Amino acid sequence: MPFSDIPGNGRIKKILRHALGRRRVPNSLLLSGPPGVGKRRFAAVLAQALNCLTLEDDACGVCPNCLATARGLEDPERGFPDVLRIEHFKNKEEILIDQVQELRSIAYLTPMIGRNKVFIIDEADRMNAEASNCLLKVLEEPPRTSHIVLVTNNPSRILRTIRSRCQNLAFLPVSGEDIENALRERGLEEEKVRILALLVHGNLEQALNVDWDEIQARREAAWELFRELVGGDEPSRFLKRFAAQKKVEIKENLAGTLELVSSFCRDLVLLRDGGDPRLLLNPDFEPRMRAGGAGAAFDRALRFLAAVDGAFAGLDQNLNMNLLINTLYSQVIG
Ligand SMILES: [Zn+2]
Repeated sequence: MPFSDIPGNGRIKKILRHALGRRRVPNSLLLSGPPGVGKRRFAAVLAQALNCLTLEDDACGVCPNCLATARGLEDPERGFPDVLRIEHFKNKEEILIDQVQELRSIAYLTPMIGRNKVFIIDEADRMNAEASNCLLKVLEEPPRTSHIVLVTNNPSRILRTIRSRCQNLAFLPVSGEDIENALRERGLEEEKVRILALLVHGNLEQALNVDWDEIQARREAAWELFRELVGGDEPSRFLKRFAAQKKVEIKENLAGTLELVSSFCRDLVLLRDGGDPRLLLNPDFEPRMRAGGAGAAFDRALRFLAAVDGAFAGLDQNLNMNLLINTLYSQVIG
């Protein structure tokens, strides 16, 4: 698969293709950024490109080396001998020193078939202290024809001394437009495309692997929240509902839930302003929206839309969830 087939993060594609074209790919790279934005796919394409038989600055995806690399990243037994993926064993939390020692023992050998050896360390933040120190020794004396690619959602958990020896490529969330296009290419209906792109907050993998029934359930739940928040007699249920959830779930779902509630607010505003119903984010909720519209609801919807950006910013900064919800709530209900 060439880089152009991966949605998003165009800046990083450019950097890597430029480096490939000049045969100047750094020996150690750190691919960091939020989950689901394509870091592992980038690492895989880079591993292919470094040994591709037809292209200099990209992976053709179809030559024997590209095919074997792609196969091997799924199933090491059938792989390309110069590309190795290291990850924590399923029954272990950590990446262990033995695994990094294996890397160290072969990193200095000449490639067997290809031009370069490539080691991809997935969830590199799981390396324990021993494994990290062992890797550091390799990075201090970088092997000439080997490339070590660390992939992580949590770069701060990797030794500073390791990070400082890698070129860091910081991935961004995939834009809504790129996610929409990727979903359209998969043949998803337009209504689902728009709402999904909103919901996943730049997490492309989540958008591509979503269970639509589950999303429908979450939309229904968000609709209830929306009604409670902007139209209900007892808006404090909005708070109680979040308070009842476990912390981790809140963190994972809050952004998506806030997006869904915002999408209903935007639809309400659109309908009130006599906008084109084809622009609705939730066309399937239009009859309910028209039936339930109330005067008080409209003001609260506007206040919610004004306040929600602040909540997203707070989420990015890992602010305390309860505080965040309380602030949002007080800004909307007053
Ligand atoms: Zn190729």
